[in-house]
Amino acid sequence: MPVESIFHRLEALLPKVQKPIQYVGGELNSTVKDWDAADVRWALMYPDAYEVGLPNQGVAILYEILNELPATLAERTYAVWPDLEALMRAEGVPQFTVDAHRPVRAFDVLGLSFSTELGYTNMLTALDLAGIPMLAVDRGDDDPIVLAGGHAAFNPEPIADFLDAAVLGDGEQIAIAITEVVREWKAEGRPGGRDELLMRLAESGGVYVPKFYDVDYHPDGRIKRVAPNRPGVPWRVHKHTVMDLDEWPYPKKPLVPLAETVHERFSVEIFRGCTRGCRFCQAGMITRPVRERSITTIGAMVENGIKESGFTEVGLLSLSSADHSEIADVAKGLADRYEGTNTSLSLPSTRVDAFNIDLANEFSRNGRRSGLTFAPEGGSERMRKVINKMVTEQDLIRTVTTAYSQGWRQVKLYFMCGLPTETDEDVLGIADLAKKVIKAGREATGSRDIRCTVSIGGFVPKPHTPFQWAGQADHETVDRRLKALRDSLRGDREYGRAIGYRYHDGKPSIVEGLLSRGDRRVGAVIRAVWEDGGRFDGWSEYFSYERWMSAAEKAGVDVDWYTVRERAENEVLPWDHLDAGLDREWLWQDWQDAVSGAEVEDCRWTPCYDCGVCPTMGTEIQIGPTGRKLLPLTVV
Ligand code: SF4
Repeated sequence: MPVESIFHRLEALLPKVQKPIQYVGGELNSTVKDWDAADVRWALMYPDAYEVGLPNQGVAILYEILNELPATLAERTYAVWPDLEALMRAEGVPQFTVDAHRPVRAFDVLGLSFSTELGYTNMLTALDLAGIPMLAVDRGDDDPIVLAGGHAAFNPEPIADFLDAAVLGDGEQIAIAITEVVREWKAEGRPGGRDELLMRLAESGGVYVPKFYDVDYHPDGRIKRVAPNRPGVPWRVHKHTVMDLDEWPYPKKPLVPLAETVHERFSVEIFRGCTRGCRFCQAGMITRPVRERSITTIGAMVENGIKESGFTEVGLLSLSSADHSEIADVAKGLADRYEGTNTSLSLPSTRVDAFNIDLANEFSRNGRRSGLTFAPEGGSERMRKVINKMVTEQDLIRTVTTAYSQGWRQVKLYFMCGLPTETDEDVLGIADLAKKVIKAGREATGSRDIRCTVSIGGFVPKPHTPFQWAGQADHETVDRRLKALRDSLRGDREYGRAIGYRYHDGKPSIVEGLLSRGDRRVGAVIRAVWEDGGRFDGWSEYFSYERWMSAAEKAGVDVDWYTVRERAENEVLPWDHLDAGLDREWLWQDWQDAVSGAEVEDCRWTPCYDCGVCPTMGTEIQIGPTGRKLLPLTVV
């Protein structure tokens, strides 16, 4: 069936909307392939606005890998802003891809990458605009397979009714495997229709198909069990782990945005996984084990990425970039290579030690020493032990003093509020710490011209972490503590003016908590919010706490039960049948250790403490050093 571009219909609407350029495509390194020459076609969606979605690494990598496959085509689609949504509805223009402006419904697979649960309502807008039935059960053979990935897909239960499938973990290899399953099924003449295709995906053990699992509940609402409802469907679905990152040096051709985006740089992921064991950090837990990219691959990716994109900023990404076993050589090698050029390097790292400042000094050779960010996360020593953030007050003061005395004038400190076992004193400890930081900085530099910004995020307990059993702090408590902290900072005549304070109120965290640890019954709330106009929930100007609470009430969902309630060890959690590789008993023990303030070491450098990942994955921690060095560029 021929598939036409809808651009001529969209074009007429663009003069009437804000930032029309975000919808036109044609970016450097974007790809448009011949529709008829492809036999498997993916639409890839980051369910947020173009400015947030375009820099997303997950989508960019899959876009490139899939388009490199013969007879496979991948295009991108983003959430349209409400102004264009209204016009599209009025004119009957469907959800489209930005590459060739093809209607999303014409694709075989609609793959959505969820970094956060707050994109769920945007998924519903896209499905509705695309003309794809919102509920998976209502879809027919002509509708795409709606597939979720990304960190939020480690508990896809709240959106289970809207999804055909979900995948956990790294996408590179599984996207290719899914493509082959779809290709074979189509080549065979689509035997058994959509149901058989989903069954083939489910049987592989690497794709979760929610409709093949039944959830039974206890009378009190807790889950009794989640069980496959067909033979051949596995009891547990495992995550995917790419072991050799050097074999997957993507992106090779970075997309260069046409409109302004949140990051405009070439990003190279220098390793995946983290073993520091911060108990609040879902990303750290679900991406284990650590897998490093070698110094030579990093160097080659940076050289190639700059050449292919023209970006002048390069970011070395990971969950804790200063922990790469060869980071000192990487930093020095790259700084030497690009010294005197217009290429600047950045390392978004939060490690609190002097080594981190040495790295920052290397990376700032081509630029200004403006600001450094550190993340102690907890305001008191006790709190930091509970969350296993092994940073002492001494460490922090010593590190920031070094930073100030080496010419850095601005330090940003990141903390969380609402952590398990937290008291008012723990949060007020943040103010004491910030004042000590300024005091030490003034003493070290002899100058009053130094600043520190305290930035606070609300803590949300996440699945597959030791805090998955914890009761979330209610928003009244969080708001009260944040206000007391603000008063303590602002009221200080000696240091108050040198300390900036950024925080959000506690209500969005409650909604995020509902969606993070929700089960299938929460889907009705998401749908009701969407029907009531909910869009772009990650944006404070669109987010409405009242809308979520009223939808929950109408759906008969008790928000407190999902958020502030502490779970018992034996309670079946909605995501227990989804395997992130972590041993449940170890997670529980780590939760008990948290409450008693017992810390665990980083297993990169100390013996394994049996979190379960390495044996389950049949892998082991992979770290260098390779001993290789970066050579100077042949042509800069
Ligand atoms: S299994 Fe052991 S070595 Fe592997 S990530 Fe877990 S604690 Fe670390």
